Amino acid sequence: MTFVTNLECIECGETFEKEGIHYLCAKCGGNLEVIYDYAAAGEEWHRYEVKKGNELSIWRYAPLLPVEPISFGGLNVGWTPMIESERLKELLGMPYLSLKDDTQNPTASLKDRATAIALARSIENKADVITCASTGNAASSLSGLGASIGAKVKIFVPETAPKAKVAQMLLYGADVFKVKGSYDDAFDLCIKATEKFGWYNRSSGFNPYLSEGKKTVAYEICEQLMWNPPDAIVVPVGDGCIISGVHKGLKDLIEIGVISEMPRLIAVQADGANSIVKAFESGNEIGTASGKTIADGIAVSKPRDGVKALRAVKETNGYALSVSDEEILEAVRTLTKTSGVFVEPSAAATLAGLIKSLGINVLSKGDRVVLLLTGHGLKAPEAAIGDLKATIIEPDISNVEKVLEGEYA
Ligand SMILES: *Cc1c(COP(=O)(O)O)cnc(C)c1O
Ligand SMILES: [Zn+2]
Repeated sequence: MTFVTNLECIECGETFEKEGIHYLCAKCGGNLEVIYDYAAAGEEWHRYEVKKGNELSIWRYAPLLPVEPISFGGLNVGWTPMIESERLKELLGMPYLSLKDDTQNPTASLKDRATAIALARSIENKADVITCASTGNAASSLSGLGASIGAKVKIFVPETAPKAKVAQMLLYGADVFKVKGSYDDAFDLCIKATEKFGWYNRSSGFNPYLSEGKKTVAYEICEQLMWNPPDAIVVPVGDGCIISGVHKGLKDLIEIGVISEMPRLIAVQADGANSIVKAFESGNEIGTASGKTIADGIAVSKPRDGVKALRAVKETNGYALSVSDEEILEAVRTLTKTSGVFVEPSAAATLAGLIKSLGINVLSKGDRVVLLLTGHGLKAPEAAIGDLKATIIEPDISNVEKVLEGEYA
């Protein structure tokens, strides 16, 4: 059983029954949030704690999830490693830095956490087809986990989505629509298809259940740090669904008395996709940005979970800042070659944001900081490789010698 009581609009407070399919608020169009009976869920959590030891996936947190666990044919979603890179710590002079490596999910991004919950919901609601709009990773995730259970998946991505992510979708067997336009165009078209054909929609900032999956990464970070939460978690932000999920997870843990301190949430956007940062700085409503950045996973001009994301930052005494594509590229190289964790540009934005935060005293070197590494480098290598080049030689050992001598001369 689950301990969900109902859904609630974050803007106007209107409530909706937990049964059936709800996306945005029918009254004001605001985002919905899933509400639990925390007293009962907390009791079950503490009782369950002793049994969950060998459940190495998001389902170890079943008492605070909105669905009954389902199996993905042996693919484990979540319980990804927390990496302590001594070399990166040394380079930055930060003794308490940790990397949450969510590249190690089944389809190589954090999006699998949300997909797991969405697929379970689509089954509960007997949906024939599940769809989503995506910059790339949400769609590869839905395609991959969908393949493991034989779900029918239809995808809408911008024409510019990275090759490797589209390859994942096609090979996992999804029907892929490449939309001539931006992610926002794909998003709107996907909603129209949902309305017209009755498909179940897994798009970020539209389906309220996604943050219920993404929040598990916050549970894991806290558990892996022996329930001693870090001072700050640095999160890459596009639509804002991940950071609001992280915030929800932390609030859950405080609510049931598992942790007592709220970490600060640091939102990192790309300069070209900085709508949430602009609203944070100006105090105005969230507007639109060009959406242009090499970090395709956060290339969003109109954040669909922006209100929740901004609250996550403000209510945790956090901060929102943006970084340039050059800083992101530099961070991909630094992070990858120092830690051995191969990340895509959107994930590396966290390191660029951390470095910038240190520079403006938003964070200090002695803070216990976690970087949330959201997606694998093999998903978008073209943009990241830049001008790095291998040495091309004739297959003759003397040529190797010459190169070595040149290098050591
Ligand atoms: C989706 C994604 C993000 C941003 O998540 P939002 O919920 O859109 O803010 C960051 N990094 C990667 C790798 C992603 O796939
Ligand atoms: Zn409302």
